[in-house]
Amino acid sequence: GVRDGLGAYIAKPETYPPNVVVYHNDNFVAIHDMFPKSSLHLLLLPRDQTKMRMHPFDAFEDAEFLTKVKTETQTLRKLAAGELRRKFGKDSAQEQAREAALSADPPPDKLPQGRNWEQEIVVGVHAVPSMNHLHVHVLSVDRYSERLKHRKHYNSFSTPFFVPIEDFPLAEDDVRRNPTEEGYLKQDFTCWRCGRGFGNRFAELKQHLEQEFKEWKKL
Ligand code: 5GP
Ligand code: ZN
Repeated sequence: GVRDGLGAYIAKPETYPPNVVVYHNDNFVAIHDMFPKSSLHLLLLPRDQTKMRMHPFDAFEDAEFLTKVKTETQTLRKLAAGELRRKFGKDSAQEQAREAALSADPPPDKLPQGRNWEQEIVVGVHAVPSMNHLHVHVLSVDRYSERLKHRKHYNSFSTPFFVPIEDFPLAEDDVRRNPTEEGYLKQDFTCWRCGRGFGNRFAELKQHLEQEFKEWKKL
């Protein structure tokens, strides 16, 4: 069924073009989300047969496995940051300052760092995944995408329904273990960037996300 759709990438990653499968190795496959909910949205798929079909909360109870996943997400976060730099580097004031310094004659001793794109990426899992194969979301913070079409799309990445990988292992009494799924997804909208509330006004939120996106990439 459709909920098994991620299995094909795990089984035969080499059969996909690079705009679909970003990379693969013995233990992981990194892919582009087919319905991206941000300007950059990747998925990390572990290939471990014993973990592949587990709920992330259960799979991440295995400390050794969790460490492997965390390490791989660091690699993917760096790769994603490079992708953001290529996409938005021309818009970003910090990147422009670095470019200007680089092309100065003579160039200054100390170059501006450029923007830290790694901190503009979030990594985590959904408390209640819709797809059966274990996957970790790696996406830019903007939540700006044509594919963000439904209320639950926004809230699934903007409430405790989204559990950052850094938060694992979860404490035994962590409330996110028993997600009031409907509760989080039906929560009033809050802008990820400025914290402004939008009630349940999705169209207004979407307009605002576009404004925030434009400013965010130019920072
Ligand atoms: P979940 O809600 O299960 O955490 O997220 C599943 C993700 O998989 C969603 O972001 C969805 O857009 C993505 N997705 C669903 N089907 C496919 C598919 O066939 N291929 C790819 N690349 N992504 C998919
Ligand atoms: Zn805002």
